[in-house]
Amino acid sequence: HHGLTTLVDTAHFHAEHQPDTPAVVCGAATLTYADLHRESSRTARALRSAGLSPGDRVAYLGKESERYYEILFACAKTGTVLVPVNWRLTSPEVSHILQDSDTRLLFVEEEFRPVVDGMPSAAPDHVVALDEAEGYATWKAAGTGGGEAYEATRDTPVAQLYTSGTTGLPKGVVLAHRSFFAIADAMAEADVDWIDWQAGDVALIGIPGFHIGGLWWATQNFNAGTTVVAMPAFDATEAVELIRRLGVTTACVVPAMLRMMLTRPGVGPADFVTLRKIVYGGSPISETLLEQSLAVFRCEFAQIYGLTETGNTAVCLPPAAHEPGSSLMQAAGRPYPGVQVKVVGDHGVVLPLGAVGEVCLGTPAHMVEYWNLPDKTAETLVDGWIRTGDAGFVDEAGYVYIRDRIKDAILVAGENVYPAEIENVLERHPGVAEAVVVGAPDDRWGEYVHAFVVPEDLAGEPLRARDLHTFLTPRLAAFKLPAKYEFIDHVPRNPSGKILRRELRNRFWDGSDRKVN
Ligand code: ATP
Repeated sequence: HHGLTTLVDTAHFHAEHQPDTPAVVCGAATLTYADLHRESSRTARALRSAGLSPGDRVAYLGKESERYYEILFACAKTGTVLVPVNWRLTSPEVSHILQDSDTRLLFVEEEFRPVVDGMPSAAPDHVVALDEAEGYATWKAAGTGGGEAYEATRDTPVAQLYTSGTTGLPKGVVLAHRSFFAIADAMAEADVDWIDWQAGDVALIGIPGFHIGGLWWATQNFNAGTTVVAMPAFDATEAVELIRRLGVTTACVVPAMLRMMLTRPGVGPADFVTLRKIVYGGSPISETLLEQSLAVFRCEFAQIYGLTETGNTAVCLPPAAHEPGSSLMQAAGRPYPGVQVKVVGDHGVVLPLGAVGEVCLGTPAHMVEYWNLPDKTAETLVDGWIRTGDAGFVDEAGYVYIRDRIKDAILVAGENVYPAEIENVLERHPGVAEAVVVGAPDDRWGEYVHAFVVPEDLAGEPLRARDLHTFLTPRLAAFKLPAKYEFIDHVPRNPSGKILRRELRNRFWDGSDRKVN
């Protein structure tokens, strides 16, 4: 990683040492490292001209583009903090984020202007259109600078990402430069190459840049001076096309994206010959999907596990652990050098190896805080440990196994049932493309397991609940068996690939948020 300390160094270093290497390719646009440095400095000047000072929040509401990364580096250079906004959000949701973060300047793509106009609250002081003729380019050109170059350190906040709110109101996670360097530095120091960046790599970003997974992947590649390939929005056909056309060597995706690429008609190993490594994570992966992926992509795989709060990945399943049939294929991975894991039970008691409890991560990449939420910060970040809200355990070899989110556990007659386990087994049935299970109220047992199944498109006999039940019975304890099966045609997911369980669960619970176990 060239001994870089902050993203500001990253921009300077590669502009000097490899000015003509493409830094970002998105659609028809390419920015070299020289372009990225020059243009982000112009944007930084314009930000200063607009009166922004270090610590001010700058929001971006738009699809993935080369400008997004220009703005990221401009924020780094001015000490301002980038607030990327998921463009799928509605006016009230965007309004919440802009208000909560106290955003002073908003970059908005034309397409999302109506979302801003429809907000219940006033727009920020400055709104800059990203793609009108009179918009961003003119605004940037008019910047006269003013103010000193900002001296960032590893502890300077540079991004504030909102959790998607799948488990509550979105919270602003403040991340400093440290979060984008600590893990790669630790791997380099310990000579660990679970995830590596090689000169000449062409790295596809599948996970959107407004999510930590995408932003992390992009910054890791910038730090290494490789080329990032971004898509305005993920599209499986386009991704396969880009891999072929641009000779993509590495990619970072969520499991749902692997599935989407695999199931494109006509797609096979020949499409992926240039790929050398796929980094995947963000949600549990079924063994079926992982094995299919190994067979078709035919490259190294590394799983990442982490949260926005841990600055993305804290645990990694290295390529060597990806042996079909090996029990390690069920693990999320092991902690990177310098990262610690513990599992706690009730009242914060540390549990022995093998016992299931809440996974806590001690990582040098952890967040600074939740913005303006000192109480929530104190609950989640305790003495340098992040409480993940995930249930899991650690085995004797130090591998971490994630069961599922604690809040998604289904309480059947006093026993915790973790949806991912049931889904994983259901997906081994050849007639099942995808499955989701939720808890529904049950007079007798408290909750019962309700399974939603997307049938595989097989010619012949239609899939029946009875067949699924017969299939699951020898494979799962009785209390884990779904009491009802319902066939659906797709699984609702958010853009980071997470199942929107609440959408499926709500109808059983009258729309009210169900009790938390
Ligand atoms: P919210 O907390 O509001 O739901 P979010 O979904 O955006 O927000 P993220 O930080 O993006 O939160 O996701 C972190 C969660 O993703 C983890 O707590 C875990 O449940 C899940 N996750 C991430 N990687 C993996 C993995 N490799 N295996 C299983 N689960 C994973």
